[in-house]
Parts: sequence; structure tokens; C-alpha cells
Amino acid sequence: MAIINTEENYRLHQEGEVKWVTFPELDAYPELVHAFTTRHGGVSTGEKTSLNFGKGPDETWDNILENYRILAAALSEEAGKAGFVNREHMVRTDQTHTANVLTVTEEHLSMGILREREYTNIDGLITNKRGLTLITSHADCNALFFYDPKQQAIGLAHSGWKGTLQEIGAQIIRQMSTEFDTQPEDLIVGIGPALCQTCFEVDEDVAQKFYQKNPAWKTMAFQREIGICSETGEERRKHYIDLKSVVRETLMRSGVKSENIHDMGLCSKCRPDLFYSYRGQKGKNGNMVSVMMLRP
Ligand SMILES: [Zn+2]
Repeated sequence: MAIINTEENYRLHQEGEVKWVTFPELDAYPELVHAFTTRHGGVSTGEKTSLNFGKGPDETWDNILENYRILAAALSEEAGKAGFVNREHMVRTDQTHTANVLTVTEEHLSMGILREREYTNIDGLITNKRGLTLITSHADCNALFFYDPKQQAIGLAHSGWKGTLQEIGAQIIRQMSTEFDTQPEDLIVGIGPALCQTCFEVDEDVAQKFYQKNPAWKTMAFQREIGICSETGEERRKHYIDLKSVVRETLMRSGVKSENIHDMGLCSKCRPDLFYSYRGQKGKNGNMVSVMMLRP
């Protein structure tokens, strides 16, 4: 049995050594495959032990490709079908903290995995093609999962603070509406493991970008005085923004129903037993991936 632990907001799955988490609300749709990976079950070593999908000077592309193969095999194993998920059908973002979304079709098969990409600066993916496997990567940045059960369409977004500020969630919804006739009120949206409010500490400059873009977001932050600058006499503050609430506000303003937004309630930095964290590992982290596919 693949599900080893069922928490209120997420399920922990395991096949062999590979572990991943899912949303119970999305698991309820048998036509859908989705996953957010953990550190466990791959071949990477050192700080990136072991199911790493992120490049770095201490990582080889061979290791990453092998980790994709291992992940695909584990997801196939759970589905009881060899080759059900495979690298040939994966399509990966080219993440540069934009709000750009690509509509994925068969012409993109395996781009960013076994083939060179023919696109750049893409942080979101949508499709209604069955069997195409969307992939985004994460290490503290929000992973957003979109499912339209009516039109049978899916979307994934890498929504770090910059993507959240640019409201990539809203862009995914606009593009799904245009391409697939998605009605926002039909959408089920999942918010995956990412920094909690306390772990997203930023300086005045970043905080002001959020407060100026949408004053409502200021109510989703708290501030802490850290002292007076001994040179200028200026008061210094740190800000803590609840990015998951900011994402939720964007989604609701775009027409998603509150009860259809599901947050796993997992912090990538506070759970080093499960996840890599850019902030927690001071940049020497590995990366997790989000996976989403409509069953062929
Ligand atoms: Zn945290």
C-alpha cells in the first residue's frame, strides 16, 4: 500500500524508498495523477541527498535524470501500470520568477527533461492533453496545482515571492479560461509545501512591493523591530508575509471558491525531515518537483 500516512491536509505516499505528498481533495479524482516530491528515494548525495531535481555545481544531470526515472517508476508502481508515468511524456518549466504560462501540447513532449526546450522564461504550465506530465520545481517557493474537473484541464505554477507578487495564479486561471473555457468557480486549487509566514522574513524593500501592489496584503504580514541603525539612527524592521494567504486572496479575487482552495499546511523550511529548503540550507539545497497529469 502506497499511502503511509494521512494527515488532515496531505497524504504521504511511499513506493520503495521514494516518498511524496498529495492533496486528499485531488486524490478524490481518479482521472488525475499528482505529486509533490520529498528528499527521499533518489541517487543524489551530500546536501542534495537524495531525490534532487535541481542543478548545481555539486550535482550531475545524470543524477537528476535518474531521479526523474525513479520518480516515474514509483508513480507508475502505485498506479499498478509499468511506464504509466515516464520521462518521455514530461514537460518542464524554464523558471525565472515570471508570471508566464505555457499551454502544453504534444509538440513539447519531454522538453526540459530528455529534449532541449523551445521556450524560455516559463513559470506556469497548463494542458488538457491526457498523458502529458507537467513538471515544476520548488525549494521554498509555492507550488500551485489547478484542476478543472468539468473541462478536464490542469495547471501547475511555480509561485515564489516574485511570481506571487506578479500573481501567476491569476494568469494561470485567465489562460485556462481562454484556452479551455474553464470557469474559475469550477477550479480545485492546491497550495503545496512552501515557506510559512514566520520563515518568509524580508526587508522593507520587498515588503513595500507587496503593500503597494495590494493594500489588503499588508494585513497578511507582521513586522518586528530589530533595532536602530547605529550610523543613521533609522529604525530597522523585518517583515513576515504570509505568501500562502496572498496566493489565496489572488485566487479568490480571480473567482476560485474559498472551499475549493486546499493548503497542505507544510513549511519547506520547518520540515527538513521531508523537504529541501533554499533558506534552510543557505542555498546549498536540492529541489523538489510538482507533478500533474490527466490519465491517458
Ligand atoms: Zn516555517
